[in-house]
Amino acid sequence: MALILKGAPAAAALDNETLKAVHLLKIRGITPTLGILRVGDRPDDMAYEAAAVRRCEKLGIETKLVSLPADVKQGALMAQIARLNSNERIHGVLMFRPLPSHLDERAACAALMPCKDVDGITPESASMLYTGSGGGFAPCTAEAVIALLEHYGIGLDGKNAVVVGRSLVIGRPVSMLLLARNATVTVCHSRTRGLPELTRRADIVVTALGKAESLTADCFMPGQIVIDVGINYSGEKQRLVGDVHFEAVEPIVGAVSPVPAGVGAVTTAILAKHVAAAAGGMT
Ligand code: NAP
Repeated sequence: MALILKGAPAAAALDNETLKAVHLLKIRGITPTLGILRVGDRPDDMAYEAAAVRRCEKLGIETKLVSLPADVKQGALMAQIARLNSNERIHGVLMFRPLPSHLDERAACAALMPCKDVDGITPESASMLYTGSGGGFAPCTAEAVIALLEHYGIGLDGKNAVVVGRSLVIGRPVSMLLLARNATVTVCHSRTRGLPELTRRADIVVTALGKAESLTADCFMPGQIVIDVGINYSGEKQRLVGDVHFEAVEPIVGAVSPVPAGVGAVTTAILAKHVAAAAGGMT
């Protein structure tokens, strides 16, 4: 039986730290505030937004929602980003991606002030992460993977880690965060050959490919640590599942994070922590 790496205890520990920081900020007359910029109304964006607002409210962080229609023009989007940048009461900005395909997402990300970039979407944040120069914020989900591992006392120094997925949102940043903690990292993607052999050799496997229950018993070995980042909807009932076939893999490995209630539960706690830090409350 594997240890189940539930997200809630890790999120609660992070929230405790954030609460203290918010309290100290409020003594200084600062109310940490998150601006949320959403284009359109995709159900997954709405679900994440609701969770983020709930978490922030619980921690005394204010939220200001800016919702733009799905057919918004680039100019209007850029003007809105400029307003969020210049609003001194807003300390961090979460902009949902992907943006609708008619928009230039790269330009929108680059327009955000790096000091308000609490989800690591600007080139400056990426540069700090990839050069290891410190400062800036990593994408929240990528950092949530590390926070979950650290909460359960899973050491990374010298470990072999395999990351499945190379997106800018999860795969690449999580690889950099693992590397910065002295793991030896292999990054896999859709062209990788012999994926099961590679994952079987790892101490730690992070899955972020977005394919429902696609990694099954043949990919894993006893004792491995598995962090499942996938959020997928499967079958007629649209059941929420990860990238890992939990029922098949849990009896084999040493520890595995569930979906739901694994990494996802930690992501908004990291977001709140970043907002408090952007407001000047944490390092
Ligand atoms: P993405 O942009 O679609 O990237 C998927 C990555 O997986 C790509 O690098 C792709 O390779 C690779 N891949 C696809 N099929 C593969 C296969 N059969 N074998 C090996 N690699 C394969 O997705 P994403 O934005 O990174 O998200 C990944 C998953 O995480 C999704 O399920 C998403 O819903 C979930 N997610 C979770 C959270 C959370 O808080 N838990 C937050 C955001 C996203 P190529 O580069 O070659 O195409």
